[in-house]
Amino acid sequence: MSSSSLETPMMQQYLAVKARHPDAIVFYRMGDFYEMFLDDAELAAPLLDIALTTRDRNKPDPVPMCGVPVHAADQHIKTLARLGHRVAICEQVEDARKAGGRRLVRREVVEVVTPGLVGDPTGIEAAREVVLAALASAGETGGVAGLAVLDATTGDFRATAARSEAALPDAIAQELERIAPRELLVARDELETLRAPLAARLPGVVVTGVEAACFEPREVPVAPEGFAPDGDDAAMRACAALLRYVHANQPFALENAPRLRRYALTDTMVVDAATRAHLELFESSEDGSRRGTLVEQIDRTTTPLGARRLARWLAYPLLDPEAIRARQDAVAHLADRDRLRARLRDATKGVRDLERLLARAARPGSVPRDLGQLRGALEALPGVVAALAASDDAWVDEGGARPAALAAPEPLPELAGLLAEALVDDPPVVPRGSRGANETGYIRAGYRADLDALRESAEKGREWIAGLEAQERERSGIATLKVRFHPVHGYSLEVPKSQLGRVPADYERKQTLANAERFTTGALREFESRVVGANERAAELERALFDELRAAVVARAEDVRRAADAVAGLDALASLAETARVRAWVRPEVDDTERLEVRGGRHPVVEAALERARRDGFVANDTLLDTGDAQILLLTGPNMSGKSTYLRQVALIALLAQVGSFVPAESARIGVVDRIFTRVGASDRLARGESTFMVEMRETADILRQATTRSLVILDEIGRGTSTFDGLAIAWAVAEHLHDTPALAARTLFATHYHELIDLALAKPRVRNAHFEARELAGEVVFLRRLVAGGASRSYGIQVARLAGLPRDVVTRAQEILANLERGELDAEGQPRLAHGARPRPRAQARAEGQLAFALSPAAGGPSRAERDVLDAVRGAAVERMTPLEALLELDRLRGLLAREDGEA
Ligand code: ADP
Ligand code: MG
Repeated sequence: MSSSSLETPMMQQYLAVKARHPDAIVFYRMGDFYEMFLDDAELAAPLLDIALTTRDRNKPDPVPMCGVPVHAADQHIKTLARLGHRVAICEQVEDARKAGGRRLVRREVVEVVTPGLVGDPTGIEAAREVVLAALASAGETGGVAGLAVLDATTGDFRATAARSEAALPDAIAQELERIAPRELLVARDELETLRAPLAARLPGVVVTGVEAACFEPREVPVAPEGFAPDGDDAAMRACAALLRYVHANQPFALENAPRLRRYALTDTMVVDAATRAHLELFESSEDGSRRGTLVEQIDRTTTPLGARRLARWLAYPLLDPEAIRARQDAVAHLADRDRLRARLRDATKGVRDLERLLARAARPGSVPRDLGQLRGALEALPGVVAALAASDDAWVDEGGARPAALAAPEPLPELAGLLAEALVDDPPVVPRGSRGANETGYIRAGYRADLDALRESAEKGREWIAGLEAQERERSGIATLKVRFHPVHGYSLEVPKSQLGRVPADYERKQTLANAERFTTGALREFESRVVGANERAAELERALFDELRAAVVARAEDVRRAADAVAGLDALASLAETARVRAWVRPEVDDTERLEVRGGRHPVVEAALERARRDGFVANDTLLDTGDAQILLLTGPNMSGKSTYLRQVALIALLAQVGSFVPAESARIGVVDRIFTRVGASDRLARGESTFMVEMRETADILRQATTRSLVILDEIGRGTSTFDGLAIAWAVAEHLHDTPALAARTLFATHYHELIDLALAKPRVRNAHFEARELAGEVVFLRRLVAGGASRSYGIQVARLAGLPRDVVTRAQEILANLERGELDAEGQPRLAHGARPRPRAQARAEGQLAFALSPAAGGPSRAERDVLDAVRGAAVERMTPLEALLELDRLRGLLAREDGEA
């Protein structure tokens, strides 16, 4: 009977493990390798670019397999997780020697790595969060949806909620876009409903279905601080699902004292995905990298802690002027003090990635080097305290107090001291799971007397054995006798075949080689067992001491996290201060008005790029927007004149101001902006398979639904994606709507090449025209990049055509035609032709007019003809351009109309 290769005891064990983790690729530990079998092997081998082989080639059904060495496994595991797979790591959980080779070593899955739970944070991009999120949907009928978010590599744990009519509220979808989770947990029975909307908003996220019961907040396996088992609380329901998932896959990740922080989406500025992309805050539109982004420009942090904190601030600009000022105070303080700033930044550097070092040290698979690095980071904390304290002394002279935001971390001298006493200077890496191997020597001599005694005993034995060679050579007269060590067979005395005749009588034969024989003696055996025994006990003791140290770290995890938090804030503030100094930025005034005033504003990224390219300097420009007065700034002018740059520059300045940063300007006053909307009439979104115009209009529709009088709206060439007349009509209507709808009267910058739009300012009092100045210089158009009031000259294109060498006759004729066209743009009554017709009116206003009409009308049937005429005339009246006398005359005429009708009746 031929036994199939699947029937071996080992494969039986493997299949049992696999049965418990059917949806994961099982990494099955065998000695120094993790092996994958069967379907897992066939799936993983090409993804990891490793060879696919077979086990038991000669048996009837050879098992496909592949493997990776333990020391290189982490990379492979991360690769699979990044590709959306789960990896179950199955370790040998007992010492192979204890199993004695008689039976199979016990193995267990100790950790499941998933796209959102990457496990060991080594090799993870330092400046980014690794987010696992859980969504408790609002249900089909609407209600409140909850969102829980965890970065298991840092312990950052937060939750929020939003009300909505849809299963996936827009606010939550926007928040998901902002945090870009790697993996999102949703109830399995909602997978179908949610998959499409999630895929549309979050391409690339791995959506994992979990049982609906997981969302029950009662009886979660672990309840971190801040968690409340309230079943009616959507945020808590999301947390419950997340906690259960982490507990099932990486229970130790919750040992690290995460503390739940609740936050409200309305507490910070909304920056939607389109705006984040258009403004290139975190990713360049060219290649998705950090190059040419705002974050790259302002990130001068010295630690990953600070880099992540700064990115967080940039993603969540503040709304409360007090809170913004508190941050500014700290930035100003550091910007004014070069020595303090330099000292502080130097000190924070040593703290490195304290959060992730903590997460790593707390893992059961942590190695001595992890604790060594954590120790190094902890040892740097007093330096940070000292840097701040030194400046406290200096301020006594200056009479200033340290701003509250510059709080020093609380160092942990006992923990750092314990690790320093216990661990050698440079603790080794002992690869994952090789605890059974004889890796010793990382606990410092003098830390524990019993360990020292064991080591001394082993050392004495080794010394004796080392002396044995000379001793036995003399006793036997065999000059070529050698003491040998073999990892399996142990110590022996080796004698070449030619000398066997001289071997003393008390030698016992141990092993025969081709040219030599190996022997042992009673004394050698005794010393050998003393050395081996002492070594083994020492190793065991070291492991126990190591576990004690790790427990000591976990016990202080919360304090470590708090210190890391303080350093993150200091580093981010010092970075903003450094940027302010290096780039000569100024502190903006932030208030509660609906105004935005910038003198000498610059684009932070374009300015730096021009400098790097050693091109002409950036030309600074002013901005004034005010909902009550200059609400809409309409920028006209040809391509390349600087419109887009200017639009983004204004948005970036407002955003930076609310982050607490200084801004690239001579001075700035920013009335707090609740949302920034940036829309670009683009032509390069075809990759997504959607009509660009459709995307453009959908994004524009968002603005008209969501903007408030506190928003900042940036519209760059809206309408470009369709035909000229369509585009112009839409651009006009959108601008008009933003002007005429009181609830939507946001500060707006509108760039357009439709110069017909300048006429809007004639009809709409809060619209201002501006354009970028250009000059003709030595037969070429030179853009001066200087913003000036008024619309761009309409003959601008003709000017360019002339410069380009179009024949003089053609140019003259073009000018004639243009003049005709322009005359035609005003109608007989002097109205701008494009302004004609019924304007879209806000619903409230229309309703009010309806009521007014009803009150006026003699019969319940509605207004009479004369009344309708009067109403139309009132609506169409160009009041802004009437003199008082004209207005009186008009009023008189209207009264006449009504009187005539009354007379007729
Ligand atoms: P438009 O939107 O009018 O076509 P852009 O804003 O794209 O023009 O600007 C075109 C180029 O002009 C930019 O790539 C930039 O290098 C340069 N530029 C824009 N504004 C300025 C400025 N204020 N100072 C110096 N160069 C500028
Ligand atoms: Mg442009």
